[in-house]
Amino acid sequence: MKDAVRRIVGAGVDVSTRKALKSSMSLLGIKEENIDRMYINVKNSVNRKELDEIPVENRALFLPHCLRPAELCRARVGEYGYECNGCSLEGCKIAEIRKEAENRGYRVFIVPGGSMVYNIMKKEGIKGMVGVACIKESVDALENIDVPAFAVELSKSGCVNTDVSVRKVIGSL
Ligand code: SF4
Repeated sequence: MKDAVRRIVGAGVDVSTRKALKSSMSLLGIKEENIDRMYINVKNSVNRKELDEIPVENRALFLPHCLRPAELCRARVGEYGYECNGCSLEGCKIAEIRKEAENRGYRVFIVPGGSMVYNIMKKEGIKGMVGVACIKESVDALENIDVPAFAVELSKSGCVNTDVSVRKVIGSL
């Protein structure tokens, strides 16, 4: 995928929107889900340098609430989504990711959806972001967020008890 991304960017393909990339790629018979994945990779690659230049205290990490262990998590809902109490429940990946991200200076938010992300970014003046989401939400965010953004795809999506690679998320910070 990395080579393909390099070639796409190098060839000057229009990657400004998913629609533009889709029209370039559909001729090659590439499946829609893979075009979305390619779009995410291309945008991540294009945004990386700019994101790295933003002071870490102005960056945020957005985690989806569906990553919490739904039946056991006691996080309360506040103005900015779920407020993790740091209980470090066994198997909760949010605990591990949040600790590492905050140690690096990121602000971390556990949100129920994209509209809250936009709201927090505006209110808090976030200048760059890393987000964990399903393919659809990632494409949506990368198309609409006007600061450098980097998306990490959930390894198991759905409405509850989703999953992600902790290594990938921490590697994207
Ligand atoms: S560490 Fe946070 S998100 Fe995870 S179960 Fe505990 S309160 Fe919920």
